[in-house]
Amino acid sequence: MPTDDRASGSPWTVLKALQWTAEYFNRHHIESSRIDAEILLAHALHCQRLDLYLRHDQPLNENERVKFRGLIQRRIRREPVAYIVGAKEFWSLRFRVTPAVLIPRPDTECLVENAIKNIPQGNAGQECDVLELGVGSGAVIVALAHERPGARCWASDTSWAAIQVARDNARLNGVAGNIRFFAGRWLDPLRSRSQRFDLVISNPPYIPSGDIGQLPPEIRLFEPTGALDGGEDGLTHLGAIMAEAHGYLKPNGLLLLEIGFDQRDRVQALARQSGAYRPIIFHKDHGGHDRVVMLRKKGI
Ligand code: GLN
Repeated sequence: MPTDDRASGSPWTVLKALQWTAEYFNRHHIESSRIDAEILLAHALHCQRLDLYLRHDQPLNENERVKFRGLIQRRIRREPVAYIVGAKEFWSLRFRVTPAVLIPRPDTECLVENAIKNIPQGNAGQECDVLELGVGSGAVIVALAHERPGARCWASDTSWAAIQVARDNARLNGVAGNIRFFAGRWLDPLRSRSQRFDLVISNPPYIPSGDIGQLPPEIRLFEPTGALDGGEDGLTHLGAIMAEAHGYLKPNGLLLLEIGFDQRDRVQALARQSGAYRPIIFHKDHGGHDRVVMLRKKGI
């Protein structure tokens, strides 16, 4: 990044820095070039993105230029903006993210929307026990606890680093008292417990192992593979959860899962095979893909 505008001799302002950086990102085929430039510059200047518009003519000092240049270099190496700034917005809430957790995706709001519809509001919600498997950053369970403060929430992950991040996010969003965290693989830690849930929810890894190498470098090189890799056919974890979760649901309880855009038929076959759920309903995300499956445990 140049330090001043050589032609005019004028200083390097916020506006010039943004224009130059967006152009530089374009040349490196970074798609959201202008937004990325804005988020990174706001981070370097310790201000909000929108504040930049009020500061277009402000010159950058040497420290700010050095800091911004470092952030640009990281982005050019394809590090996701959310990891560079350590934060991502989801469900209009702010989440801390580290490379130990997947960056929350807009698609996953479909999972949250459908869960909320099934957790009663007010006093009725106080009888509602919700469990998230594979909590990652905590985006899903924190959004639920935020929308339904009466619900009793539990959340687990195999990664202690992820649980730490999720705990922080619960605290940052004022719902730490509503969520109990524990470590372990899917339902294993609950084997010896009698606790049963009204809603079990998960966005497990569902990408076929062979497809991981074709993902964009931002995902392939930086996000935790363990949170993405769904085994050879992508269905290893979805299958394991469907096979067991009904044993931990109250009668008529719900299992809600995020699935890959092309997994509907195979997920339906697995759910039917378990013989434990009826009905089996799919919900589309905003992109029109079947993204969430809702499985109701057959009443007994
Ligand atoms: N939707 C995510 C992606 O495309 C995958 C999330 C997952 O495997 N649960 O990167």
